[in-house]
Amino acid sequence: MSLPSSLSRRALFGRIATMIAAVAPFGAGRRAAAQQKVSKREAKYQDHPKGEQRCEICVNFLPPDQCRFVVGPISETGWCQFFAARENAH
Ligand code: SF4
Repeated sequence: MSLPSSLSRRALFGRIATMIAAVAPFGAGRRAAAQQKVSKREAKYQDHPKGEQRCEICVNFLPPDQCRFVVGPISETGWCQFFAARENAH
C-alpha cells in the first residue's frame, strides 16, 4: 500500500502518535495505582486489633508483615480502616 503524498504520511503518523499519547496514560496510571500505598496515618492504622478485626485475618495482609494498601511493615495484630475479613476468618 502506498500513500499518495508526504503530507498524507505525516498526517497518518500524527494521528498514530495522537492515539498512542491518548492511550498511554491509562496503562501507566493503572500500574501506578496498583503500586501506590497509603501511609499508616492515612489508613488510620493502629498496632493493635479493633475487636476481633486484625491484619492476620484481613484479605490485604501479605505475611509476614506487609499489606497491599498500607506502607509497611505492619503487625499481624494491627488494624486499619481498610480491613476486610478473609472468608472463614475468625
Ligand atoms: S487491616 Fe489494614 S493494614 Fe491490616 S492487612 Fe488489612 S488493610 Fe492492611
